[in-house]
Amino acid sequence: MMRMSQALIPTLREAPAEAEVASHQLMLRAGLIRKEAAGIYTLLPLGLRVIRKIETIVREEMDRQGAQELLLPIIQPAELWRQTGRWEVYGEEMFRLKDRHGREFCLGPTHEEIITALVKNEVRSYRQLPLLLYQIQNKYRDEIRPRFGLMRGREFIMKDLYSFDRDEEGLRQSYAKMYEAYTRVFTRCGLTFRAVEADPGQIGGTTTHEFMVLAPAGEAGVVFCERCPYAANVETAECLPPEPEAGPPPGPPERRETPGRKTVEEVAAFLQVPPARLIKTLLYETEQGPVAALVRGDHQLNELKLARTLRVGWVKLAGEETVQRISGAPPGFAGPVGLKGVRVVADRAVLALAWGVTGANAEDAHLVHVVPRRDFQPDWEADLRLAQAGDLCPRCRQGRLQESRGIEVGQIFQLGTKYSEALGATYTLEDGTERPIVMGCYGIGIGRTMAAAIEQHHDENGIIWPLSIAPFAVCIVTVNQREAEQAKVAEELYRRLWEMGIETIWDDRDERAGVKFKDADLLGFPLRVTVGPRALAQGEIEVKFRATGEVRTFPRQQAAEGIAELLRSWGGEPGVSGGSDTGL
Ligand code: ATP
Ligand code: MG
Repeated sequence: MMRMSQALIPTLREAPAEAEVASHQLMLRAGLIRKEAAGIYTLLPLGLRVIRKIETIVREEMDRQGAQELLLPIIQPAELWRQTGRWEVYGEEMFRLKDRHGREFCLGPTHEEIITALVKNEVRSYRQLPLLLYQIQNKYRDEIRPRFGLMRGREFIMKDLYSFDRDEEGLRQSYAKMYEAYTRVFTRCGLTFRAVEADPGQIGGTTTHEFMVLAPAGEAGVVFCERCPYAANVETAECLPPEPEAGPPPGPPERRETPGRKTVEEVAAFLQVPPARLIKTLLYETEQGPVAALVRGDHQLNELKLARTLRVGWVKLAGEETVQRISGAPPGFAGPVGLKGVRVVADRAVLALAWGVTGANAEDAHLVHVVPRRDFQPDWEADLRLAQAGDLCPRCRQGRLQESRGIEVGQIFQLGTKYSEALGATYTLEDGTERPIVMGCYGIGIGRTMAAAIEQHHDENGIIWPLSIAPFAVCIVTVNQREAEQAKVAEELYRRLWEMGIETIWDDRDERAGVKFKDADLLGFPLRVTVGPRALAQGEIEVKFRATGEVRTFPRQQAAEGIAELLRSWGGEPGVSGGSDTGL
């Protein structure tokens, strides 16, 4: 039970200036969290209640799929990480420490190594597989840019699950189970999200999906088809090449003076061609020397695709000096015709052009009528560009792509045998042959999910918690706490609601009603119940929905039952996580 007069809910009138996004501002203002150091936070009582709600939903959904919870150590020996090669790979993001004997450890940024070592020791036979093991625990990553509060912390709570299967088919089944579990978790948390195809990155493996909550504050770009289920992180989304442009080839390239016109818009406007007619020549440095990457003027280069095409570890846009040295002109005038000393990689949309406009490798000049493959030869052609809104869907080839920002709240990976082979986690078949265990891993950021929920559910007055993860379902406000009769009616209702299992907070503070109403809005409880003069004079109790502002009144004697009924019809069991609430 919780009375506001006793509770540690330190609300703030103004959010500290460093809080850039709504969820961070509101978590501070509503007294959910406090910062201890960059990316390191205390969860205050109200914040912790929300975290626990999300954890409960996550547990229920993991358990529904037959997973078992355990708790692995946070402190992990370096030795295991050396065996998989990740002690080095993890670099500066890993918090490292030594014990009194000089032995090296890290604070777990993730737990593939330690759980694989465990399973190696405890699992021998095919009969023990499949196995789904998970934990909910703090993770430690020394992020370069911790920001947005719980969204990107250096210490944060993650649910991480690992699947162990006999073969690829088993892995696909475990993966499908987790896909379903994640879909249920985020739906129950009242979130609008998409599962998108993504890049596995350094963790290894092939297939992976990110669960993205759609919100303007998201750090990732997401594209999805308006017609079919296709959705992808913009970093990995494939782009179809357009049909080759028809028409007879123009005459040879002609030089046009373009004084001071460097950007696509400036050149296109000056030469009176659409930006799509321009061929941008971007000079990049790579570990294998410089390259010129060509994309159409209306497209953006995707550096991940560029690095993958070139099979290099990094690419970096060349500085002014390098550009001058290679193209013989300041930045803005490079072009593939006659370009020496660099290899050229062209996006497929560039090669579909009948002709294009390029830089002339001379200051203040461009070439028109440049015909790809006639006037220059690319060393590679590839899909190099970023997908964007309006592109044809690469899956159904009928719908158009839409674009949105996304907050990555979870990610699932098919790992294969990378970790089991490195650490020797094998099992034996019926006939005694030994096989590496086939693994998957699956993470959910609990705090980031809470932040994402606020990003999607707030207004200018504060948070609007989805019922399923609200810290309290109901907030009772006594209009005048000094009026003994009002306080008595409020307390009776408060006790009655708790008896019925409805999580209720009672604002019994000796404050003006206006202050209490404002706080109830800021804190975002789904239902606000007002006990004021009307409750006494007319015997009526007022119930207001935070989300819609809708008001219902109940006769005093039936108020508790009325509220319970409201909550039941809204989202399953009263006041506890469990319903398929979408925020009302
Ligand atoms: P990101 O790309 O955002 O850095 P990641 O891909 O490194 O995240 P995973 O290793 O896939 O993250 O971790 C699983 C989940 O843990 C993520 O989907 C996210 O919800 C959460 N998470 C990861 N890093 C952080 C962090 N620094 N703070 C809070 N949550 C995080
Ligand atoms: Mg991820």
